[in-house]
Amino acid sequence: MSLDYQVPLRDMRFVIDEWIGAPGWWRSVPAWEDLDSGMAQQVLEEAARFVTERIAPLNSAGDLEGCRFEGGEVSMPAGFREAYADFVAAGWPTLALDTDAGGQGLPQLLEVALQEMLAAANHAWLMSPGLTHGATACLMAHGCDALKRDWLPKIASGEWLTTMCLTEPQAGSDLALLRARATPDAAHEAWRIDGSKIFITGGDHDLTENIAHLVLARLPDAPPGTKGLSLFVVPKWTFGESGERVRNGVHCEGIEKKMGLKASPTCSMRFEQALGWLVGEPHRGLASMFVMMNAARLQVAMQGVGHGQLAWQRAHAYAHERAQMRAVSAPAHDVGEPGKAAPIAFHPAMRRILLDLRATVEGERAIGYWIGYWLDVAARHPGAHERQAAGQLASLLTPVAKTFFTANGFAAASSALQVFGGYGYIHEYGVEQTVRDSRVAMLYEGTNEIQAIDLLVRKVLGDGGEALRALLAHVTKEAAGCMASDDPALSSAGARLEALVADVERITSEIGQGSADDRELPYRVADDYLALLGWLLLAFAWARTLCIALNAPAGDPFYAEKRTTARYFFAYPLAAFDHRLQLIEAGCRASLPHV
Ligand SMILES: Cc1cc2nc3c(=O)[nH]c(=O)nc-3n(C[C@H](O)[C@H](O)[C@H](O)COP(=O)(O)OP(=O)(O)OC[C@H]3O[C@@H](n4cnc5c(N)ncnc54)[C@H](O)[C@@H]3O)c2cc1C
Repeated sequence: MSLDYQVPLRDMRFVIDEWIGAPGWWRSVPAWEDLDSGMAQQVLEEAARFVTERIAPLNSAGDLEGCRFEGGEVSMPAGFREAYADFVAAGWPTLALDTDAGGQGLPQLLEVALQEMLAAANHAWLMSPGLTHGATACLMAHGCDALKRDWLPKIASGEWLTTMCLTEPQAGSDLALLRARATPDAAHEAWRIDGSKIFITGGDHDLTENIAHLVLARLPDAPPGTKGLSLFVVPKWTFGESGERVRNGVHCEGIEKKMGLKASPTCSMRFEQALGWLVGEPHRGLASMFVMMNAARLQVAMQGVGHGQLAWQRAHAYAHERAQMRAVSAPAHDVGEPGKAAPIAFHPAMRRILLDLRATVEGERAIGYWIGYWLDVAARHPGAHERQAAGQLASLLTPVAKTFFTANGFAAASSALQVFGGYGYIHEYGVEQTVRDSRVAMLYEGTNEIQAIDLLVRKVLGDGGEALRALLAHVTKEAAGCMASDDPALSSAGARLEALVADVERITSEIGQGSADDRELPYRVADDYLALLGWLLLAFAWARTLCIALNAPAGDPFYAEKRTTARYFFAYPLAAFDHRLQLIEAGCRASLPHV
C-alpha cells in the first residue's frame, strides 16, 4: 500500500478536455492556437513529476523539523531552499504569466491544476511561492513604470519572494483598524513605513536573497477607515547608487508556534523607517491589494481540493488494505472464507465516507478548474462583453470555492483520519498532518464567514442578482440538456438540478425582501447560503459528469466509476442542500438572541 501522493492526472485531463472542453476554446485564442490537449497533458505530466519527486518528499520531514528563528533571521527546513531554486529554474512560477511580461503565457486553467498538485504534495512549502502570482498581477495592474522595471521581473520570475502585509494585532478581518504609517522621504522619492504586522507568511526566510513586502499603511493625510489605506512595496534589501545592498528597516521579530504548516514561517514584523514605494494611487491601496487577494483566494480554494484529494487517496488505499470484522455484504469476487475479516472498505460506514470523499473532491475539481477557465475567458476573449461577464462569474464563484472547498478539505482530512482509526492519529501515516495543515485555509485570505458575507451581501444582493442570474442560467441550461436524455438517472438529475435552481431563486428573493426590515438577516444566513450554492455547484458538476460518462465507452472503468459516483451523489450527499435550505428558512423566521 502506498500512501504517497499520486497526482490524479487522468481526472485532471477529464475535467480540462471533456468537462470544460478547454482545448476547443484554446484554438480560437491567437496566443494558444497551437496549444492542444496533448501539449497541456505534457505540461501537467512534467509538473506532476516535479511535484512528486521534489516537493512531496519534503512534506513530512518539513513538518517535523519546522522553521528556525535565530538572530532575527528565519531558516527553512532542509531541502526547501534547493527545491525552491529548482522550481524557479524550471520556470514554474511563470507558467501562466503573459509572454510579454517574461512568462510562458499558458492558460490560468493549467496554473489552477498546478496549484492543486502543490497544495496536496506540500501545503507548507507552497506557502512561500503562494503569493508570487498575486503580487505580480498587482504590480502589473497598479505599479508605476519604475516599479515595473526594477521589481516586477524579479518578483514575477520568483527570484525574489513576496509577502502580503495586512494583519496587525488589533486589525484582522477589519482592515479599517490598520495603524501602520507612511511618511514622505523626498530625498529618495519614496516613503518611510513604520508599524507592526503580525501573522505574515514568509516575512523572513532563506529561500531568496531579497523579499518584497507588499504593505498596507496610512499616509499622513489619510482619511480614517479602509479608504485611507495605501499600498507600498517595501523590500528587505534596497540598493545604493552603485548597486550595493543596503539593509532596509524591516525586521522579523519572531515566528509563531502553530497548529500546522510548521514548515511555513508565520512572522511578526516590525517596520522602522523602512523605505517603501507607493503602488497605485494614494489612499486606493485596498483596491490594489484586492488584485493580489483575489488571485490568492482561488489558490486557497485549490488547497481545499488538494487536501480533499490526498484524504480520498489515502483513505481509499488504507480501507482496502486494513481488514477488521466480517462484512455484512461484499463484492461477489471478494467474498473470501466465511468468518474471515473483511477489508474495512466493505463496511457501509466506511464506504459512505469514501464515496463522500470522492464525490466531493471530484465535483470541486470541476468547479475550481471552471473558475480558471472563466479567468482565461475574462483575460483573452475578443469581446468586451464576454470578458466582463466571465470576470463577473469568476468573481461570484471565487468566494464560494474558497469557503466551501476549504471547509470540505478540512472535513475530508478528518474523515480520512477516521478511516485510519488509531493509526490516523499517528504522524507516520500523514493524515494527522493534513488535518492540522488544512485547517488554516478556512481562516486566512478572509475568513470563511467574511467570504460568505462578501458573497451574499455584496455579490448577490448588492448587484441586483445579475451575477447570480448568469450562474443560474448556466445551471439551467445543463439541467435542460440532462432532462432531454433517455437515461432515467440523467433525466432525473436534470430535474433535480432544475428544482435546486428554483429553490435558490426563491430563497434569494426571500432573503432580499426580508433584509429590508431585518438588517441582520443576510449576515445570519450567509454561511448557509454560501454552502447552498456550493452544493448547487457540485450538483451541476456531477450532472455534466454523468452526461459525459453515459456517452463514453461502456467498458471503460474510468467512466463506469464516474457514473457510479454521480448516481451516488444525487441519491445521497446532495440531501445536504435541503438541510442548508432548511437552515436558511429557519434563519429567515428566527432572529438570534445575544449570547
Ligand atoms: C498561518 C497564517 C498565515 C497568515 N498569513 C497572513 C499573511 O501572509 N498576511 C496577512 O496580512 N495576514 C495573514 N494571516 C492573518 C489572517 O489573514 C487573519 O488571521 C484573518 O484575516 C482573520 O483575522 P483575525 O485572526 O484577527 O480574526 P478576527 O478578525 O478577529 O476574527 C475572529 C472571528 O470573528 C469572525 N468575524 C470577524 N468579523 C466578522 C463579521 N463582520 N461578521 C462575521 N464574523 C466576523 C471571523 O470570521 C472569525 O471567525 C495569517 C494567519 C494565519 C493563521
